Amino acid sequence: MENFAQAATLESVTCPFCGLLCDDLTVQRDAAGKLDVTRNGCQKSITFFGRAPNQAAPRIAGKNATLAEAVAKAAELLGRSKSPLIAGLGTEVQGMRAVMSLADKAGATIDHMNSNGFMRNIQVIQNSGWQTCTLTEVRNRVDLLVVLGTDIVSLFPRFFEREIWNKESMFGQDTSKREVVYLGGRNIDTSAGVAPDGRKPDVLPCDPECIPDVLAALRALINGKKLHAADVGGIAMTDLQNLADRLKAAKYSVLTWAAGTLNFPHAELAVQNLTEMIKTLNLTTRASGLPLGGNEGEMNANQVSAWISGYPVRTSYASQHPEYDPYHFSTDKLLASGEADTLFWVSSFNPDRTPPATNLPTVVFGHADMKLENEPDVFIPVGTPGMDHNGVYFRSDNVVSLPIDRLRQSALPSLNTVLTAIEQAL
Ligand code: SF4
Repeated sequence: MENFAQAATLESVTCPFCGLLCDDLTVQRDAAGKLDVTRNGCQKSITFFGRAPNQAAPRIAGKNATLAEAVAKAAELLGRSKSPLIAGLGTEVQGMRAVMSLADKAGATIDHMNSNGFMRNIQVIQNSGWQTCTLTEVRNRVDLLVVLGTDIVSLFPRFFEREIWNKESMFGQDTSKREVVYLGGRNIDTSAGVAPDGRKPDVLPCDPECIPDVLAALRALINGKKLHAADVGGIAMTDLQNLADRLKAAKYSVLTWAAGTLNFPHAELAVQNLTEMIKTLNLTTRASGLPLGGNEGEMNANQVSAWISGYPVRTSYASQHPEYDPYHFSTDKLLASGEADTLFWVSSFNPDRTPPATNLPTVVFGHADMKLENEPDVFIPVGTPGMDHNGVYFRSDNVVSLPIDRLRQSALPSLNTVLTAIEQAL
């Protein structure tokens, strides 16, 4: 059995700090539990794994307390609440199962910290469906990648290294010949899209608010319509026609976006234009969508919620059965309207994702390094899944889940342990 208190070199470590879930890291552990990424890390993984072990104690109103006292106080607040909100939800699968069980018992509403972006995709899936692919399909098949309104790498640092410029692929494709087009957005850093042989990506910039018009025009061109305007959002119609022709000629194009970065009104309709365009392309060739997400356990929350309740997050158990409302059950809305009367906030991966400002009684289940502007009623530091305890995590593509393993000795409890104790104390 592994001695987690000993120094060791850990191979093939899976990183839970963005939705790519890279599983090829080498991590050096010292006897004090400090972790250093020594191979295949990006800056984000080096920062997250590199945080020194912190065995902070729970706090009640800012004063150190035992875990049992903090659990009892959290249960008391939840027991008094008529309309609790359990939000943030930065956790892995087992932690999310505990959230669902507690929400069911307490009549709570659940919402994830990234839902404002993620809901743009959910609305499209629910309204018209879509054709998407896995990261593995991208790695092995893509010949033309169209990136919508993002550089990808600021959210998913190793995307191009692992999925586009990978040296090996399953079907003998020369991956260095892949083509990349950045469509929409301004001042996007496109350097990661430069091919290994120095070929630059094509860049068709426009203001983010023009992305819906650009996509509508591109979809019309793919459908064989004639458009008489000279440009759309500043992109020449000839350039858009050229892109439409390339998409039709490609053997396996992938159109990718990160819904959280599409910050304009009704961005879900832009996503829908893209996904409907993909359906049209598939009449004559192969094309797929690749919605990028999964940071802070966003896929875990939605997958677990969907398989237990039939709905994604933004679901309430106030009426003793799951009731889904993507608009009224958002964290922002419930806090602004005063409909929630207690906030439970979960962020076990990222100490910087602190709870929104509120005067409500608040319990935080957070990364031990979390610095809070306002001291909550109860703070319970919990272990980071994939460092302090085992877990399971859904990748960005939503169909692949991987085990994320404990890497060191830690006295911090898992979220699952803490929430189960609170549920039992209710
Ligand atoms: S790209 Fe993402 S999953 Fe991969 S090492 Fe960096 S933070 Fe971790």
